Amino acid sequence: MREKLPVLEKEAREALARAADAGALEAFRIAYLGKKGLITALMKGLGAVAPEERPLLGKLANELKQRITQAYEEKREAIAASAGGSERFVDVTLPGREPPCGHYHPISLVVEEVCQIFARMGYRVVKGPNVELDYYNFEALNIPRDHPARDMQDTFYVTDNVVLRTHTSPMQVRVMESQAPPVSVIAPGKVYRRDSDVTHTPMFHQVEGLLVDRDVTFGDLKGTLTTFVHQMFGSGTGLRFRPSFFPFTEPSAEVDIRCVICGGAGCRTCSQTGWLEILGSGMVDPNVYGFVGYDPEVYSGFAFGMGIERIAMLKYGIDDIQLFFRNDTRFLRQF
Ligand SMILES: [Zn+2]
Repeated sequence: MREKLPVLEKEAREALARAADAGALEAFRIAYLGKKGLITALMKGLGAVAPEERPLLGKLANELKQRITQAYEEKREAIAASAGGSERFVDVTLPGREPPCGHYHPISLVVEEVCQIFARMGYRVVKGPNVELDYYNFEALNIPRDHPARDMQDTFYVTDNVVLRTHTSPMQVRVMESQAPPVSVIAPGKVYRRDSDVTHTPMFHQVEGLLVDRDVTFGDLKGTLTTFVHQMFGSGTGLRFRPSFFPFTEPSAEVDIRCVICGGAGCRTCSQTGWLEILGSGMVDPNVYGFVGYDPEVYSGFAFGMGIERIAMLKYGIDDIQLFFRNDTRFLRQF
């Protein structure tokens, strides 16, 4: 029996070499490695061998079977690879793997929505520099050198005459400087203040609005902002105009909406008042027209500004402003 082993191996290797396709390879497998194959028969024949020879012959037979099996597997893989698509079946009906996909930040969503509401009313979107001249940020907006808003505590100064803009209002001056009335623009962007706590961040977002034409009244201001609030927060949202003061508008008003959390009954968010302040507004101060060469006897207009983070918090029910800046995808994915 021992002499038969090398002969069988030689035959098997030659037969395997002749198998050129999947069909011939399968015939080889049945002839040598199958249940009734030659190598299987050899293993069964070990029972007839003398007991003292059996361990060594068994070992040799097993090794032979392993070598032929391995050679068979290699050949099978080689044939499959050269056959390409016909052997490697691809199910084209399976759904694809979806790659992770980003989307808009809630701040961007709110900026976009605010701009769209005003665009539908005929406003043009404009953008301006974040690093701004003192002149545009303060002086031309009727905020003189000794005004408390210019305090070093509130403003990031780059040099004595250059600041990181503290509001989007400089765009009012830049736009009026560059064109004659009528003007209707909306200016979204980043603003900067030296402030950081639960409700403040050193950088946040505002949207500024400006409309100047002949015969513009406070009634136009009320109508425009009422339309905005109803489109942004729903047509049933109550709002009120509360007298206020800004250096560059006269008269000025802050706009409150009915608390979106408690509906006006009073809660922590609205400090039990039932109202939430959402924006500042007013008729453009005639002094500002003096800086841009408009005739205040002919033209009048209104301006307004709102904090985007505040609008987003109220719209989506978010209670911590810091969440907007942490880039936690578990938070961002919800919008
Ligand atoms: Zn409330």
